[in-house]
Amino acid sequence: MKKRLLTAAALILATSHQTSFQAAQAAAAEPFTILIDAGHGGHDTGASQGSLNEKDVNLKLALELKQALEKHGIKVSLTRSVDQELELSERAVKVQQAGADCVVSLHLDTPEAQGPVYELHYFGQGKAFASVLDSHLRTSLSPATEQQTLKESALFMVKKIPVPAVLVNASWQGGTQHQQALITGLTQGLLAYAQTHD
Ligand SMILES: [Zn+2]
Repeated sequence: MKKRLLTAAALILATSHQTSFQAAQAAAAEPFTILIDAGHGGHDTGASQGSLNEKDVNLKLALELKQALEKHGIKVSLTRSVDQELELSERAVKVQQAGADCVVSLHLDTPEAQGPVYELHYFGQGKAFASVLDSHLRTSLSPATEQQTLKESALFMVKKIPVPAVLVNASWQGGTQHQQALITGLTQGLLAYAQTHD
């Protein structure tokens, strides 16, 4: 009886050891994961232009960006894939659940805003990540050279996220043509970032 108990204990030890070893192995082999956050959702419509709500444009862009990145074999998670209301804290939980290596939160400015065609908000360690995206977006969207497109800010989705995070605040100007250029620039920028951090 005693011997059997010991054997059982040894087995449990061996199993738990193996499990943690396997977990470590799995973690090492985890593919680089990008989390895309479509801003707003549900009752929170965000900005609007006519009958068009920011929450819907953000989601459309998030789905397009996901598809473009997946074509290149990048693993992508979303905070939402439908019109759904999410607290900021719930978005942060999804970042953790996804095991994300970086986060891109998609937003549109107010329609009447006269700022640059896009702004990238970052905090602290997110600056290097934002700079990579900025260099590719400058090619695809050609903001005026003197326009400041990088912006340090204390927004929740960049400050309270434990991995490099950028909040894209895109202009409504230029409509879908500019939105396509935005997706192209973000895709190129994210691929470049993933290649150097995988
Ligand atoms: Zn917004």
